[in-house]
Amino acid sequence: MHALMMNTPLMISSILKHAERNFPEVEMVSVTVDQSRHRQNNRAFASRCRQLANVLESLGAGFGDRIGTLAWNDFRHMELYYAVSGSGMVCHTINPKLFPEQVAYIINHAEDKILFVDVLVVPLLEALKDHLKQVETIVVLTDKSHMPESSLTNLQCYEELLDAHPDTYEWPQFDENTACGMCYTSGTTGNPKGVVYSHRSTVLHALAGALPDVTGASNMQTSLPVVPMFHVNAWGAPYAALMVGTKLVLPGPKMADGETLHDLMTSEQVTVSSGVPTIWMALLDYLEGNQKTVPSLSRVHVGGAACPRVIIERFREQHDCEVVQGWGMTETSPLGTVYAMKRGMEGFSEEEVTDLQLLQGRGVFGIEMRIVDENNSELPWDGSASGALKVKGPWVAKGYYGLSDVPGHEECPVDKDGWFNTGDVAAITPDGFLQITDRTKDVIKSGGEWISSIEIENAAVNHPDIAEAAVIGRYHPKWTERPLLIAVAQPGKSLQKSAVLEFLTDKLHKMALPDDVVFTDELPHTATGKINKLGLRETYKGYKFPDA
Ligand code: AMP
Repeated sequence: MHALMMNTPLMISSILKHAERNFPEVEMVSVTVDQSRHRQNNRAFASRCRQLANVLESLGAGFGDRIGTLAWNDFRHMELYYAVSGSGMVCHTINPKLFPEQVAYIINHAEDKILFVDVLVVPLLEALKDHLKQVETIVVLTDKSHMPESSLTNLQCYEELLDAHPDTYEWPQFDENTACGMCYTSGTTGNPKGVVYSHRSTVLHALAGALPDVTGASNMQTSLPVVPMFHVNAWGAPYAALMVGTKLVLPGPKMADGETLHDLMTSEQVTVSSGVPTIWMALLDYLEGNQKTVPSLSRVHVGGAACPRVIIERFREQHDCEVVQGWGMTETSPLGTVYAMKRGMEGFSEEEVTDLQLLQGRGVFGIEMRIVDENNSELPWDGSASGALKVKGPWVAKGYYGLSDVPGHEECPVDKDGWFNTGDVAAITPDGFLQITDRTKDVIKSGGEWISSIEIENAAVNHPDIAEAAVIGRYHPKWTERPLLIAVAQPGKSLQKSAVLEFLTDKLHKMALPDDVVFTDELPHTATGKINKLGLRETYKGYKFPDA
């Protein structure tokens, strides 16, 4: 028997319409290259989105066209998110910090027709102009007075275009499985691959993201997403915030600047923020160094890489702020698991709670997960068995743009049984907390045993004089591979190898103790702020252990 319920398609434009009707006065505050503090409310925002939809049409873009963005977190990027997807086009966010060749590859592969770019990105495009095959128009996200001098002939000014168009526009309705967004993920080998989100997957992801035990987003919150809008849609914040009426504070290009973040957090009374661990380390150091605090901030979401214990402890002890770790990836939109307390934890000591916060969280409704051994047999959720992590759900990718999406095909990340292979190695506790032990390719295979590089890194960064640490496996004649610890000292501190190893002795299993420690001034990071292990493996290619 068929149900008698309306089959209303899940549309991104419905989030915008809901926000305009129910939260018209809620503000969106941005830092941009041309304005130190821009403010507009949702009513003005929705009106500008309609103007932008008219602009897109006037520039010759139509249903299904890919519209590229190279921009930071601000109101104009938000307008693109809604106007492009809302009118049936595909909002293709591109990370401007990637290598120029990768940026060109991604733009060409997606066949972007129009690019909307920040002023800061214009020089990059000038360098790439002879390589961009399909791009017809480049729109600079600024007003007339800030338009740059440029050798590009097809440049237009965003604010001028908007001014020239009316704010009347009917958002069309269409199949909810239509593509709304695209984000390329740079694997460590081969070309970047395009993940294509749908209206349905994005709306469902936002609904799940707003649940109390996930982000607890609400009209009473003020959120500062420090995770870039070119990195998995800022983890869904642009959608979840408008859905529930959260006030958004957007830091523009000042992502890693402790002073700007502190200023925004205190003056706008930010209650919740999200970002990768490196961002939080930088903010905590800035606050400590300048004897400042962030009284309104009650919750910080951390993901993208394992969260070191010191971040959890420093936020709790110095700022009375809870750290919530989550796990996800570009292909999972990204929400997979998020930390939340469970019944029975009420009497836990701070230490015990921290131990659980260090895990990657519990599965969010909508995401099924399993861990399997080398024969693809499912492993128990006992907290110790670890294997390849696989997931499935309505906001998990079933293929990559332009590659086969036939399950089991070598180009397809989904196996024959319909599970997406994350490339992560994990254990799951009986209570359902996920523990990522490594990336499949970063695991150190030593004498037949698997050693987790993350476990060693987490132990090392708890050393008070270590600012950052990375572990890679290097060739060893007896063990095949052994861990090499590469550490950066805190400013003004010096480190001794013997002291670091002694510090680690009672914190790690004997097999996991690094065979050597080397010190460096800086670790390489990827464009999304993670430690670039590929780069490190390249740097230490010829490295030999002292006893080898
Ligand atoms: P990306 O697609 O660039 O967001 O990268 C996704 C990958 O980041 C995952 O597959 C994990 O390897 C890693 N990752 C994300 N969140 C965490 C976390 N909380 N702890 C450890 N690794 C994480």
